[in-house]
Amino acid sequence: EKVVNRIAAGEIVVSPANALKEVLENALDAGSAVVNVVAAEGGLKLLQVSDAGTGIAKEDLPILAQRFTTSKLDSFEGLSSLSTYGFRGEALASISHVSRLTVTTRTQQSNVAYRAQYRDGVMTGDPEPIAGRVGTTITIEDMFYNNRSRLAAFRSHRDEFAKIVEVVARYAIKCATVAFTVKKQGDPHFTISLNASMSKLNRLKNVFGAVANDLIEMRLQSEDMATLGLRSALCYFTKPSYHGKKSVPPVFFINGRLVQCDPLRRGLNNIYSSFLQKGTHSFVYLEMEVDPAILDVNIHPTKREVRFLNEEEIISHICTSVLNQLAVADS
Ligand code: ADP
Ligand code: MG
Repeated sequence: EKVVNRIAAGEIVVSPANALKEVLENALDAGSAVVNVVAAEGGLKLLQVSDAGTGIAKEDLPILAQRFTTSKLDSFEGLSSLSTYGFRGEALASISHVSRLTVTTRTQQSNVAYRAQYRDGVMTGDPEPIAGRVGTTITIEDMFYNNRSRLAAFRSHRDEFAKIVEVVARYAIKCATVAFTVKKQGDPHFTISLNASMSKLNRLKNVFGAVANDLIEMRLQSEDMATLGLRSALCYFTKPSYHGKKSVPPVFFINGRLVQCDPLRRGLNNIYSSFLQKGTHSFVYLEMEVDPAILDVNIHPTKREVRFLNEEEIISHICTSVLNQLAVADS
């Protein structure tokens, strides 16, 4: 059974960046206003995320890393009106199958923090009382220690670390009122620090650098789109005059979730193709809110491709709006 669980877990937690996404979302779900990330060896040796959220009650610790342990879903109907990132209760369980997982946490109601360790879905030993602030620290060590072929597939710690930074950067733009830091253990020169007072646009500039110097901001809030389920959209995209040599993939958040949407990506590419010179690239950041009833969230956790009703009309509306703005900027 252990082996089966490990294989299943390896499908969900495929890389440090992907584990980070889950743990980061948990911190945000816990309402934390700060998220601090530390990584060593591309996150394979150590990946630690500290938050100042609600914390986890001591009595919930024993089953925390069991599959389907979630505090976020009371009923299946709850799925369509979900406001949290998580709901499957699979992330911590999966992480405990592919690494050494330690959870240090304290709730407002408790005078002390507790530290618990997990292996293969099971808490090992009792929660240990220790000093600590309200909030949670998730420590993931030696990822894939029990899966040598998977471990061997990670060629470069540097690339894995870059992916970690990329995940944090995207959420930092989406959640612009949350403070984020990223540290690389053993490298005091590397640190990213985004404080809570930094605007979305400044964060975009900070993490995407030159890309953001030439951005158009567009907000959509159209009445007629509401009947199709599109409530609002906020989009930052590069002007036609932008001469980006490096291709940065577009970033899409739909109802707060970081997703991929191939039809949307292709639509935007098509529009830009008539404006861009050869060898240059565009960059698009899009957040949109749709009626939860038109969104299919019940997809496999690693498949980020999103589906929603009225996809064609909604995408075409966004693309046309971007096209109009590009045309104005180009004239
Ligand atoms: P899910 O997010 O789908 O519920 P996870 O496996 O990611 O499942 O987490 C399991 C549960 O552990 C969550 O439902 C939540 O109750 C608790 N939890 C995990 N991380 C945190 C955190 N940083 N702060 C507070 N609670 C947490
Ligand atoms: Mg989760």
